[in-house]
Amino acid sequence: MDKAWKQVLAAVILGVCLPRTVMSLAGFWLPREEEPESSQSAQQTVVETFPTQPSKTPVPVYIPVLTDKTSIRVLELENYVLGVVLAEMPAYFEEEALKAQAVVARTYALRRIAQGDRHPDGAVCASSGCCQAYISTEEYLEKRGTQADVNRIRQAVLETAGEIVCYAGSVAETTYFSCSGGKTEDALEVWGEGYPYLQSVSSPGEEEAFTYRVTKTLSANAFAQKLGRDLSGEPAEWLGKVTYTRGGGIKTMDISGKTYTGAKLWQLLGLNSTSFTVTAKGDTIIIETAGKGHRVGMSQYGADAMAATGKKYLEILSYYYPGTEIDKVGTIG
Ligand SMILES: [Zn+2]
Repeated sequence: MDKAWKQVLAAVILGVCLPRTVMSLAGFWLPREEEPESSQSAQQTVVETFPTQPSKTPVPVYIPVLTDKTSIRVLELENYVLGVVLAEMPAYFEEEALKAQAVVARTYALRRIAQGDRHPDGAVCASSGCCQAYISTEEYLEKRGTQADVNRIRQAVLETAGEIVCYAGSVAETTYFSCSGGKTEDALEVWGEGYPYLQSVSSPGEEEAFTYRVTKTLSANAFAQKLGRDLSGEPAEWLGKVTYTRGGGIKTMDISGKTYTGAKLWQLLGLNSTSFTVTAKGDTIIIETAGKGHRVGMSQYGADAMAATGKKYLEILSYYYPGTEIDKVGTIG
């Protein structure tokens, strides 16, 4: 693809959410035929199609997936979504949570292609820390679960085939994570860039997640070392003023005369998230962290809890991404 075509492509993807638009994304990402521009990464292309049932989109849509640093597999959209849900959400989660996850995963991939902001050619990688995890059905069956698990997740994918989350005519930024610790975070607080539909909301019912609350205990010396400081005096006196984000995370924390952002402490102290408390008990520092990751968007455990109370996947999506709507890739209206 030349660059002009990629720009047109991005515009088309971002325009897909126009209600009942006569617009098909079919074939919007086609397997490359030419050699990659970079001679340093000789990428291989493998095209795979949905193995069990035709896509509900008129013509298959393809997702370029970086499986490692040197190769791209081009997967049909629904087949890709199946692999993401297999990798990102336990098969025992409620059906409606699995369906919400399928829609969110599909949307996230299309958003990355449209933005082209993570990898060349708008590809997505299989790392949950960067894009979203992916596992092939074969590998899943070999290492993680049963055919019944695959069937359960495949059903969630098929029942939502082609559905994506949109906001104001564009594919939404459907970030997600496993556990918020009780309240999600506002995107603006984490990334400095706000989205009307990525606001802080309460997220009850996550208690069974093992990252709901995690306590970390450090010696005062180890704590100071992690901060790169040479601190003296009583540890309790090191801990000063704290300000909070809308999602209950640490916005800033004063430690012995220096102000840290929550994000910086998250990194320096190796915590699960920016939502934490720090207390001192003698020469011991106790840090209790709530949730894991950026905590922006849909909580997977929260979605499962909502589903367990009878909420449908569309209700889950509109709760975690308020003001959005659902449209279909390739809808011909
Ligand atoms: Zn990535």
